[in-house]
Amino acid sequence: MKRYDVAIVGAGVIGLAHAYAAAKRGLKVVVFDRSPMAEGASVRNFGMIWTVGQWGTPLADVATNSSRIWRDILADSGIWHDPCGCLTLTYNQDEFQVANEFVAMANDPTIRLIDPSEIAKLSPSVRQEGLLGGIFSEREVHVDPRDVIAKLPGYLESKYGVEFNWRHCVTRIKTGAVHVGQHGWEADQVIVCTGHDYETLFPEHFHESGLSRSKLQMLRAMPKGDWRIGPMLCAGLTLLHYKNFANCPTLNQVKARFEAELPEHIKWGVHLLVSQHGTGELVIGDSHEYGLAISPFNHEHVDQLILDYLNLFLPTSQIEVMLRWHGVYSTNDAGQVYEAVPLPNVHIVTGVGGAGMTMSMGLGERTISQLMI
Ligand SMILES: Cc1cc2nc3c(=O)[nH]c(=O)nc-3n(C[C@H](O)[C@H](O)[C@H](O)COP(=O)(O)OP(=O)(O)OC[C@H]3O[C@@H](n4cnc5c(N)ncnc54)[C@H](O)[C@@H]3O)c2cc1C
Repeated sequence: MKRYDVAIVGAGVIGLAHAYAAAKRGLKVVVFDRSPMAEGASVRNFGMIWTVGQWGTPLADVATNSSRIWRDILADSGIWHDPCGCLTLTYNQDEFQVANEFVAMANDPTIRLIDPSEIAKLSPSVRQEGLLGGIFSEREVHVDPRDVIAKLPGYLESKYGVEFNWRHCVTRIKTGAVHVGQHGWEADQVIVCTGHDYETLFPEHFHESGLSRSKLQMLRAMPKGDWRIGPMLCAGLTLLHYKNFANCPTLNQVKARFEAELPEHIKWGVHLLVSQHGTGELVIGDSHEYGLAISPFNHEHVDQLILDYLNLFLPTSQIEVMLRWHGVYSTNDAGQVYEAVPLPNVHIVTGVGGAGMTMSMGLGERTISQLMI
């Protein structure tokens, strides 16, 4: 059997982040993924490294560190990214009040309230009618998930000697070894980053874990014409989805209004995030269906709910939808991330929910630094 310091199962962003943190310390690292290329949540997302969404949560420092590591990797590898920041738009007085409350609470010069005239300069394509203002969080970075997740393995291989084994479904793990069918690899530490797959490895453990899944519908569109959105965008419904806004006193009022005005959006967990790649393509989403059973089929009316809400701040007559898909992530109601040690020197890291791109590098760094003590 070949011998390694660290074996990582799963080449999604969480696995790649752990591979980076270990290999950067000079450890001998091997990665396994059952697919010919990563095709899970990590290539299906917006590519938002959105630290403001973690503000005030127990993992806020991990998010900040993650963003710093991402910037180092992106600069060193030359992979496309855009440090464009993120704008949360408000069109209702109660949303605007939450924005004010949040910015006051955050008390951070990189998170500020801006008025419609400044928004018009940053993002000329955004609707101005009824716009009251927005939160501009300038430190947020955008990556193209398909691009970055495809290129990171090559970067890790050539710069740090990480070995990748694609089309290798790990079927058994014991302390000190990873098995793919009859073949085995020895490793001092094994890190299991298998996303929302709870059935292949440690099924009894996952059965008891309380972890679940969320399915999100997404669209990709081209702008008609040569316009860009500037920062990544979101709006009022997003205030309901992220814990950073949870302590804002006016949030309950926003929630009650949306429940009365947009009950279908609330039922399907629709809120709006928009990012734009270097090619001009817009990534638009999303919805949330929770539960272990994931339907393979998308609901057309949910896509329509997404587009209807988008139209409140970005005219949908100015885009052409090119692609539709859904992604699934692992959710952990008990906390922001699921970490467990089912066997000595075997570590599970999953359950990062809708913040895995943001948190990945910080989580990888944290796990590996703890193992090195
Ligand atoms: C639609 C959508 C939008 C999102 N937007 C954002 C965003 O903008 N910003 C953000 O921070 N987060 C976002 N997220 C969340 C983020 O994408 C996830 O938290 C993150 O990608 C999870 O990464 P992962 O590596 O745990 O899982 P995955 O990407 O699913 O990777 C798991 C990998 O493990 C492999 N695997 C599983 N079992 C085995 C096995 N037995 N042997 C070998 N390989 C195995 C799979 O093939 C897969 O490649 C979004 C998620 C979705 C679905």
